[in-house]
Amino acid sequence: MISVSEAWQRIATVMVPRPPVEVAVADANGRILAQSVRAERDQPPFDRVMMDGIAITLDPARDQYQLQATQAAGAPRQTLASASHCIEVMTGAVLPHGTDTVVPVEQLHHDGDCISVIGGSELQKGQFIHRQGSDYSAATVLLESGQRIRAPEMAILASSGLATTRVAAPPSIAVVAVGDELVAPGEPITTTQIRRSNDFAIASLLHSHCTPPTSRHCFPDDPRVLEPGIGQLIDEHDIVVLSGGVSMGKFDYIPTIMDTLGVEIVLHKVAQRPGKPMWIGRRADKVIFALPGNPVSALVCARRYLVAAIDHAMGSRTVASPVIVDVQQSAPARLTWFCPVIDADGGGYRSRGTNTSGDFHALKNTVGFVELPPGTVAGSSLLAPLWRW
Ligand code: AMP
Ligand code: MG
Repeated sequence: MISVSEAWQRIATVMVPRPPVEVAVADANGRILAQSVRAERDQPPFDRVMMDGIAITLDPARDQYQLQATQAAGAPRQTLASASHCIEVMTGAVLPHGTDTVVPVEQLHHDGDCISVIGGSELQKGQFIHRQGSDYSAATVLLESGQRIRAPEMAILASSGLATTRVAAPPSIAVVAVGDELVAPGEPITTTQIRRSNDFAIASLLHSHCTPPTSRHCFPDDPRVLEPGIGQLIDEHDIVVLSGGVSMGKFDYIPTIMDTLGVEIVLHKVAQRPGKPMWIGRRADKVIFALPGNPVSALVCARRYLVAAIDHAMGSRTVASPVIVDVQQSAPARLTWFCPVIDADGGGYRSRGTNTSGDFHALKNTVGFVELPPGTVAGSSLLAPLWRW
């Protein structure tokens, strides 16, 4: 049995980097950038008015100004006629030539074209002006390759002026549930059968982290169906994810079938709980993740290895972030423990035990799981990497 870090090293080695594709900026949401993005212009691109009000040349002795003109956002820059004049300005407008101070509308009293400033002694020269280039200057690298585009990065991307951008092409992924006992939601079910949930959960994980699966399937524990079925899926997809049928049971055919299909073994069995029987193989640049069927094992392995592997292939720089966790159950002596966690009152995270690796209901409302070293004892509080759902 290999360690979790050895398993990850082997997986990272067989994942082929995804090629870049050009997409419209609006379609880049959630994708991983495959280029760096530089600033089109200084930000702000001009001295920007920050408040609706008037722009003046500050003169502490003066508290009345003659209204000269209005400077709207987007309009060409105007010039102040004299120190006794003011120009009405709108938030986002360019600061007029000859002015150095903005007085907000709340401090103004209008009497026709004569504007009085209330509390003029408190004015600071340069106030409410967002200076050109004070956030960043033109050509600054704003986003780097490997960055995931979420809302803040989308704002930066759009403001860079690019209409399209290069992102990593997502892999095509088939997700397959394997088991004679599995019945889809909505189908009639007998007392001895089980609702099929793993492929739904794995699809949900893929959907929220990287890319939705291209296709979903359910195969019985029958080599005559499994062999051609999985063979065809490997031909048609970059990644095939199976759950079930990889353990030591009489009907766990997956490892043997992989051999028949010419899939080269990358790893089988990892010193971890849950998910010890995990099997991973490759055929040319295709990778097959055969996850254990127990729902907690399947989901934990899908997050820790499958999602991380796809992120890695797409060049993502996202990693599990270390967090402080209060551990309330002891870890197994010789296995890495993927321990589900919830938000603790007052900050940090607290472990949540599951009855067995079949107890998927216990994962409800968990944030994800932390990776704890073998032998971690109940009552410890330690720093551990958190894998979020
Ligand atoms: P296996 O890895 O095939 O031995 O399955 C282990 C356990 O997980 C068994 O109790 C299965 O019924 C259950 N199981 C396997 N696949 C699924 C699935 N897709 N959804 C829910 N439970 C499953
Ligand atoms: Mg089974």
